[in-house]
Amino acid sequence: HKMERDLRAALHNGELSLYYQPQYNLARDQIAGFEALLRWHHPEEGLISPAEFIPLAEETGLIAPIGEWTLRQACADAAQWPKGIKVAVNLSAAQFRFGNVRQAVISALGTSRLMPHDLELEVTESVLLEERAEVAETLNRLHDIGVRIALDDFGTGYSTLSYLQKFPFDKIKIDRSFVRDLESNQGTRAIVRAVLGLAAGLDMKVVAEGIENKQDLAYLMSEGCREGQGFLFSRARPQAEILKMLTSEKRCDVA
Ligand code: C2E
Ligand code: MG
Ligand code: MG
Repeated sequence: HKMERDLRAALHNGELSLYYQPQYNLARDQIAGFEALLRWHHPEEGLISPAEFIPLAEETGLIAPIGEWTLRQACADAAQWPKGIKVAVNLSAAQFRFGNVRQAVISALGTSRLMPHDLELEVTESVLLEERAEVAETLNRLHDIGVRIALDDFGTGYSTLSYLQKFPFDKIKIDRSFVRDLESNQGTRAIVRAVLGLAAGLDMKVVAEGIENKQDLAYLMSEGCREGQGFLFSRARPQAEILKMLTSEKRCDVA
């Protein structure tokens, strides 16, 4: 109960912030975009991980105002980056229940003047299990205006492959649990290869997340994975550092 009270206050007291983790175009060795990741700087407890407070926000409905704030902040920050560098924002299933996702996205784009195709929404398989018609309708409408849709944590939930055709995905994110096991598990390598083949056949991009070492990177690249994200490249960092990173990145020649 204390945490719920604190979280409610956090939004108003400016204790939430967004950190950004780069997603690289592996072949070109260039930043393609950043994923926005929430951080809570609790006045007494210190930094609290989203893995801890997002579930609470989802239970209490606080995810709606927090999600709206996140969209607004992420779009405003990304509007300061060079055009063509995308920002990926996580949406949780509960946001579709408690809030108006379409309205929140359109409003965040309008205020920030970010181009819709520079915004990517990351949804997990749990989102697809929601009341289907409404979620699909929202994602389709947003996709129609140019917003990109990515499937997060692919292969870890309960969804079926047919979802890949029923929703307008531009990108599949290979979950870090697969990337972690690449070296030790031949089965995992087979799954990753299959996902890359599936995405190619469906004309979707793939980003592998949680890349921590060079061997995994080399394997993923040899199998044709074009984008990657993980501690090997960078952890998530605040906007001020991202702006420096973008100005110092020499080969950042996005069209
Ligand atoms: P996610 O969307 O799958 O985000 C990836 C998580 O993996 C992030 O954790 C990131 O810091 C971490 N990560 C990235 N690279 C590596 C790596 O190389 N190794 C390891 N071990 N971890 C890596 P984080 O920031 O703690 O976020 C955890 C989860 O919380 C996210 O998983 C996402 O589901 C949720 N989340 C974060 N921000 C938001 C948000 O704004 N809205 C919603 N609804 N959920 C969010
Ligand atoms: Mg994500
Ligand atoms: Mg993920």
